[in-house]
Amino acid sequence: MECKSLYIKSLNKEKLSFEEGLFLYENAPLSELMFLANELRKKFKPERKVGWIIDRNINITNGCFVQCKFCNFHRKINDSEVFITSISEYKEKINELFFLGGNQILLQGGLHPNLNLKFYCNLFENLKNLFPNLKLHALGPAEIIHLTKIENLSICKVLEFLIESGLDSLPGAGAEILNDRVRKIISPAKCTAAEWSAVMHEAHRLNLPTSATMMFGHIETFAERIEHLILLRDLQEKKPKYSKGFITFVLWTFQGENTVLQQQFSDSLQKVSASEYLRMVSISRVLLNNIENIQTSWLTVGKEIAQLSLYAGANDFGSIMIEENVVKSAGANYSFDASEIQKAICEAGFLPQQRNQKYEFI
Ligand code: SF4
Repeated sequence: MECKSLYIKSLNKEKLSFEEGLFLYENAPLSELMFLANELRKKFKPERKVGWIIDRNINITNGCFVQCKFCNFHRKINDSEVFITSISEYKEKINELFFLGGNQILLQGGLHPNLNLKFYCNLFENLKNLFPNLKLHALGPAEIIHLTKIENLSICKVLEFLIESGLDSLPGAGAEILNDRVRKIISPAKCTAAEWSAVMHEAHRLNLPTSATMMFGHIETFAERIEHLILLRDLQEKKPKYSKGFITFVLWTFQGENTVLQQQFSDSLQKVSASEYLRMVSISRVLLNNIENIQTSWLTVGKEIAQLSLYAGANDFGSIMIEENVVKSAGANYSFDASEIQKAICEAGFLPQQRNQKYEFI
């Protein structure tokens, strides 16, 4: 195997195998891999436009029985610090979002055993009644699997109820690394890779827009990263033609500050360097030849590396994130407002373009 023939194969829109992807990841010089990814990005997005969005995270609750080892945000169910966001708090936060020009919330939280399907359906209906133009990018495969278990319903039924109540799109949260060896160590009580995939497949069948994600740079091997990408590509291939499937792929680095994972694996945890992040963005663009958008994570890697990733296949800067608590509670501390995010994109030599949650330019 040699890199050059794989570059040509990839530029000819041929699918690379797991072995070929891993070979490129481990052997291609970074400059060549970035060049290849940039060329492939241009095939999808010939214009030099980079998307960004105004939206806000709102956490439904921090009570969670899952206790992932990388998460500082959750509290045990009986902890005095557990909160469940009230309707008046939602109102205040959503009014602020509309005032700043956004109309989408990313609604996520812990898996609280007392919050059932009826709770989420009522919440979505209430929010849509109060704010008819609001878009709900909410929950994720782990919550859906949790709801199937406590309600004894199929994935399809749970999704149908949520869509009927106002769910607009499903985030690919909780993917971390889609490999059960890794998941058993970092989040043993969370859904398996197969369950995560089953939820996404069902969402695609129901034509619910979704995103795919990856949190890397902890205990996974390079091969497991590539396996994750191939799994996403295969899932996207299986989506029905009428469905949008994965609209985007978002990848960020593990933030370890004060996490159990950091404490337990302090000797062996990886530290993702700038070049490692760029290599990962590049190989994602190369292997995910059926996912149109790749979003960089300025929140975890900072402005400069995010700017460079626009030359490694990324075409989206994501959200200004009016409120983000999960990743920030583990050490990510960068922030942008609407003018700063546009300035960062311009400085990198691209045109900032505000978009909606479906990645359509506004
Ligand atoms: S990442 Fe989510 S599921 Fe895991 S412990 Fe934190 S809140 Fe719970």
